[in-house]
Amino acid sequence: MEKILIVDDSAVQAAQLRSILEDEYDVAIAQTAEDGLRRVNSENVSLVLLDVVMPGMDGFTLLKKLQEEVITQSIPVILITSLSDVENEQHGLVLGAVDYITKPFHSLVVKARVNTHIKLYNYRRQAERQSLTDQLTGVANRRRYEHYSLMKWQEAVRLQVPFSICMFDIDHFKTYNDTFGHPAGDKVIAAVAGTAASYLHRGTDFLARYGGEEFVALVLGDSSEKIFAHLKKIRQAIEDLHIPHDPSVSQWVTVSIGGVTVVPSAKSAYGFYLQIADTMLYDAKKQGRNQVVWANEHLAPLWEK
Ligand code: GH3
Ligand code: MG
Ligand code: MG
Repeated sequence: MEKILIVDDSAVQAAQLRSILEDEYDVAIAQTAEDGLRRVNSENVSLVLLDVVMPGMDGFTLLKKLQEEVITQSIPVILITSLSDVENEQHGLVLGAVDYITKPFHSLVVKARVNTHIKLYNYRRQAERQSLTDQLTGVANRRRYEHYSLMKWQEAVRLQVPFSICMFDIDHFKTYNDTFGHPAGDKVIAAVAGTAASYLHRGTDFLARYGGEEFVALVLGDSSEKIFAHLKKIRQAIEDLHIPHDPSVSQWVTVSIGGVTVVPSAKSAYGFYLQIADTMLYDAKKQGRNQVVWANEHLAPLWEK
C-alpha cells in the first residue's frame, strides 16, 4: 500500500482525512511541520496532505523545504485550505503544491484528487527510472553513471574510504557478432551484465553499461586485494557461463577487467583514476585477455597469472 502523510495540527481534521483514505492507502499523521519534514525524509511517502496554518513551522515553510531538496521535491503536496483562503491557495500553488482541497471535505473529491496525483507521481517515477536504465541489460545506463560516479566519488572523499573503478570489456566481441549475428551478441551482453550484477549486490555496489560491450562498476569500502579477488571470481563466472565463441579466437565468451582502487583526497580527480582503470583494461587485453589487471592504492599493478 502506498503511504500518504497528513501534516495537520488538528487531530480531528487529520482523522477525518484518514478515514476517507485509509481503505486504499497507508495513512500516517504528523501533527507538526517539523515532524512532517522528518518523516518525509525517512519514510517512503508518495503524497503529502498539508495544512497551511499550524503553530511553529507553518505549511508554506515546510512546502519550501520539501521543494529545495532533490529527494523530496518530486513528492506531490496537496494543500488543505478553507473556502475563503484564495490567497493561501495561490501562494501554495506558486510554491509548488500540485493541488488543494477545501474544507469541509467531500470524500469523493478528496479520493479523486489524491488518486490522480499518486498516479501521476508513479508515471513520472517510472519514466525517470527508465531514462536512467539500459534497456538491453537492465543495469544503469551511461547517463546514470555520469551522475552517480561523481556523487559517489565525493562521498568517498568525505568518508575517506577506498573507491574502486572497474572496467569490463567483452573479448573479441566484434568477431562474435560477425560469426553469430547481432541479436545473438545482444543476448551475450545481457548475460554478461546479469552475471556481473549478481556479484555486485551490496547496497553500495554500482554497475552500469558504459558503452556497447563495456561495463563500469564502482565499489566502495574494499581494499584493492579484496576487490581484485572478487573480480577474478566474476571473470571466472562469466567464462563458466560456457557461451560458445568463434573457435578461431576462443572456446567461450570471456571478459577482460581493469581497474584501480584509491582512497581519494580532495585533490584527486576522478577522471585521472578513470584513465588508470582504462589503462589497466588495455593491459589486460594486451597480455592475452580473459584476465584482471588492477592498480592498487600505490598504483602498483596486481594481475592474474
Ligand atoms: P577486444 O577483445 O579487444 O575488446 O575486441 P572487440 O572485438 O571486443 O572490440 P571492438 O571494440 O573492436 O569491438 C566491439 C564490438 O562490440 C563492435 C560492435 O559491433 C559490438 N557492439 C557494440 N555494441 C553492441 C550492441 O549493443 N550489441 C551487439 N550485438 N554488439 C555490440
Ligand atoms: Mg570495447
Ligand atoms: Mg571488446
